[in-house]
Amino acid sequence: MNANTAAGAQATPVVPLLDLKAQYATIEKEVLEVIREVCASQMFILGANVDRLEKEIAKYSQCGFGIGVSSGTDALLVALMALDVGPGDEVITTPYTFFATGGTVARVGARPLFCDIDPATFNLSPQSVAQLIAELGELRSGQLYNRRTGGRIKVLMPVHLFGQVADMDPLMAIAKANGLKVVEDAAQAIGSEYRGGVRAGSIGDIGCFSFFPSKNLGAFGDAGLCTANDPALAERLKILRAHGGKPKYYHSVVGGNFRLDELQAAVLLVKFRLLDGWTAARQRNAAVYDRAFARPAFAGNVATPVVVPGYRHIYNQYVVRVRDREGLKKHLHDAHVGTEVYYPVPLHIQKCFASLGYKAGDCPESEKAANETLAIPIYPELTAAQQEHVIATIACFYRK
Ligand SMILES: *Cc1c(COP(=O)(O)O)cnc(C)c1O
Repeated sequence: MNANTAAGAQATPVVPLLDLKAQYATIEKEVLEVIREVCASQMFILGANVDRLEKEIAKYSQCGFGIGVSSGTDALLVALMALDVGPGDEVITTPYTFFATGGTVARVGARPLFCDIDPATFNLSPQSVAQLIAELGELRSGQLYNRRTGGRIKVLMPVHLFGQVADMDPLMAIAKANGLKVVEDAAQAIGSEYRGGVRAGSIGDIGCFSFFPSKNLGAFGDAGLCTANDPALAERLKILRAHGGKPKYYHSVVGGNFRLDELQAAVLLVKFRLLDGWTAARQRNAAVYDRAFARPAFAGNVATPVVVPGYRHIYNQYVVRVRDREGLKKHLHDAHVGTEVYYPVPLHIQKCFASLGYKAGDCPESEKAANETLAIPIYPELTAAQQEHVIATIACFYRK
């Protein structure tokens, strides 16, 4: 931290990538009160707070049902289990995402099929999915098979990366034509909207949300939620969440412990009421960056996120494509500005997936994004001075 250099001079701001302490300061009293209430009740698992959270998030996300679970990862895992995805099955998804997207596919014993992204939005490209199906797919009595592996392609799993919904109309059309179920990885996208105000998590068969602390709606630990509109599917998710017992101790399916805690739900309910205000602040911060980086000095150096007209981007991250990413990252670090690379290694070339047979060059846009992008601070509590420091530091780097 830089000290003031002279009396009255401003200290150089320190700008973390995310400042959860600043947010906590604004809600501490209310949060401690609800935590106290849960402690007094000694009801810790799947109680009234979880119920309320499920209903409120489902409604907010324009879904019939919400099923609170233990994390965003477990939301994806239990979604795949509910759709009976297992060995011999395949799931089409993007390699430019957090590991859990592909990791959960592998954990149920299925095979991820990676399709490249749209370089403008970083989201799964419908054209690349269509191309993959044209090359490998074979429809037999309404079910899609992979001609190369013999596996059944069962699910399409788009990710709404950084808080912007993937291009769902063509993806849903492809899914429908090929008998695929759709799981939306909406971990970064609570409240984000597709065309026509349609919300993330309401479009596919199951939506998966994460309340990891760094997400737009973050718990005080791990938490997540599945959404669904089909009551039978919602019921199945609920049963699988608690070991598949229905009634308790009678198991017709094998589930797991994917339950959500009351303490997390109580905290999330407090924060949920503030979510739209925080999102508005993220959008204001994004607009400030958009304007600043449109200046000629940044041309060819910094490309700002592309927001598709008519969408609501909630900016879980503000990710720019930059020239000399590693140099800029270090320069920002030296000026006390936090950044992160989301994500440096696309999933198709992760070591753990080597046996799938992908190689560098298979998803060129994902690989290019992995090499060029940088997330800069966008959190709601970012001050004007902090944001000006980020912009000025980046400007300084490209002046050199
Ligand atoms: C955060 C995240 C997850 C996993 O959520 P956890 O709550 O951390 O388990 C899955 N997919 C994406 C795209 C994410 O960003």
